[in-house]
Amino acid sequence: MTVDLPRCRRAGWEEIDRWVAEIGRRVRAAGRAPETIVGLSRGGWVPARLLCDQLGVRRLLSLRAQHWGVTATRDGSAKLSEGLSGAVRGESVLVVDDITDTGESLALATEHLRAAGPARVESATLLHIGHSKFVPTYFAEEIPATAWVWVVFPWNYWEDLASLAARAAAETPGLDATLRTLRERCGLDVPRSDLEALAARGLLGPPGR
Ligand code: AMP
Repeated sequence: MTVDLPRCRRAGWEEIDRWVAEIGRRVRAAGRAPETIVGLSRGGWVPARLLCDQLGVRRLLSLRAQHWGVTATRDGSAKLSEGLSGAVRGESVLVVDDITDTGESLALATEHLRAAGPARVESATLLHIGHSKFVPTYFAEEIPATAWVWVVFPWNYWEDLASLAARAAAETPGLDATLRTLRERCGLDVPRSDLEALAARGLLGPPGR
């Protein structure tokens, strides 16, 4: 799927704290606190670290899955591009990502982890899109497939903004027109100073184009 200027939803830290607390509650209620958390790189790293804090887990590992290229543009099918950073044999493991969309990344990661001989593998995401082929064991909020959006998480803000603003600027050159296009087409309201910062780094194409 390639979406040129996708509808977006910006996620803030308060929501993220709420989602992490909700997952923590569900994991505790299930009585299945993990010994090891695996953060899927890159989107799952911050949620995984926050869940370590929430659940009192000290062992945090990484596994890198690659799927989406630039914002809202798929880059072929998901692949695991870096191995798991530690052993999980005999451990109860929780693998964490920020969102399940196609679900391919988490499906692959879970399969890979199972092959490493853990006692148990469960999964968690902050958000889950209804059409995902993989349903995480725990998620805080479901987005119906018909309401698909690109979620701009704080850990991806500048990357997403640079990519979307460059596309918007190619259609409607000039900072004010770019701001308007981001607002009208993507539903993203960002400060003008953020676009100025990108323009100063040459990330919005030639000035006045
Ligand atoms: P997927 O394999 O399609 O479930 O998604 C893999 C990764 O791509 C997620 O962990 C996110 O980092 C990113 N991603 C996919 N879809 C979205 C979306 N709708 N909004 C924000 N990030 C997304």
